[in-house]
Amino acid sequence: MTKILVFANHLGENLSSGAREALAFGARLASSTGGEVRAVLLGPVAASVAKDAIACGASIVYTVSNPLLDEFDVELYVNSLFEVIEQTTPDIFILSFDKIGKDLAGRLSTRMGASALTEVVDYKINDDKLTWIRPIYGDKAFGEYSTTRSKIVLGIRQKSQDEGNPVESRIGEIIPIDYTVPEEMAVTKLVVKIQAALSDIRLEDARIIVSGGRGLGGPEGFKELEALASLLGGAIGASRAACDAGWVPSNLQVGQTGAVVSPDLYIAVGISGASQHLAGITTAKTVVAINTDEEAPIFKRANIGVIADYKTVIPSLTEKLKKVLV
Ligand SMILES: Cc1cc2nc3c(=O)[nH]c(=O)nc-3n(C[C@H](O)[C@H](O)[C@H](O)COP(=O)(O)OP(=O)(O)OC[C@H]3O[C@@H](n4cnc5c(N)ncnc54)[C@H](O)[C@@H]3O)c2cc1C
Repeated sequence: MTKILVFANHLGENLSSGAREALAFGARLASSTGGEVRAVLLGPVAASVAKDAIACGASIVYTVSNPLLDEFDVELYVNSLFEVIEQTTPDIFILSFDKIGKDLAGRLSTRMGASALTEVVDYKINDDKLTWIRPIYGDKAFGEYSTTRSKIVLGIRQKSQDEGNPVESRIGEIIPIDYTVPEEMAVTKLVVKIQAALSDIRLEDARIIVSGGRGLGGPEGFKELEALASLLGGAIGASRAACDAGWVPSNLQVGQTGAVVSPDLYIAVGISGASQHLAGITTAKTVVAINTDEEAPIFKRANIGVIADYKTVIPSLTEKLKKVLV
């Protein structure tokens, strides 16, 4: 029986959407391999969130309830997760390949002596052999991979799985793991928290995103986008060029090395549509592109294209929408 362990990260008292996806993937895999899915939760509220992990398919949830694990610290998390892995010996360790998962996957697979595969979206079983599917070439194709080591770490691509519906009545077991993570292992310390986001809506959860790129010409361009986004109840996103220029915080970056988003509506303003940016919006339902260059690659992805200067389009669109929506 394949032993599957999922890292179910949580934001406050709720499982992250990435954790729900990782659990859904684990549960699907367990049903194909005849096994069961177990989960691990870290932090002082782990025990109270554990029932959500059970509702999402975990049969057993291991918790390491240490106050030091309240905030993400890569060294403390790696040590705690590795302790649980050593005690429970999973064959497959699954995590969401979100910002935290990106920090953990490589470190954990090295400690475990495991093969690691990231951005995994699916699997296949041929003659009892598992292979893993992930997008390649900037999402232009899918690759099918087998692994050479007996242990595997899988990073599940964000927004690639149906989170499914939690079954509150599911019964499972919660097992506290007695491990006191040594404080001296923390090599970094959180000194101060800075409110970075331009809106309260998390990019990954936003149904509408208005995203700006280098074509905005400076940070003031984002003020126009903010007005539109707040009118639509959406969030602000950005290309890496806009983040690297310091116009907006880096946590607004959408793309391969930023957030992978899945909104109903993605408005790309002054963004050329580099493959690394498009990798973050593959599952966006409707993409509207506003760009002065009719040859910009973003128009190949866009459902609606506006070839124009954003400075004329955005203010008049905002004004028109105000009349309809307010
Ligand atoms: C390993 C790696 C990872 C990367 N990861 C990411 C990532 O996660 N996310 C990401 O975004 N990028 C990423 N990049 C960078 C990516 O390759 C591009 O450089 C970046 O996306 C370009 O940003 P942009 O579209 O804002 O800028 P540009 O490519 O410079 O495009 C600006 C666009 O604005 C248009 N424009 C100019 N003026 C106006 C105007 N007044 N009105 C309307 N349109 C106008 C122009 O026609 C142009 O198309 C990565 C690159 C590498 C190598």
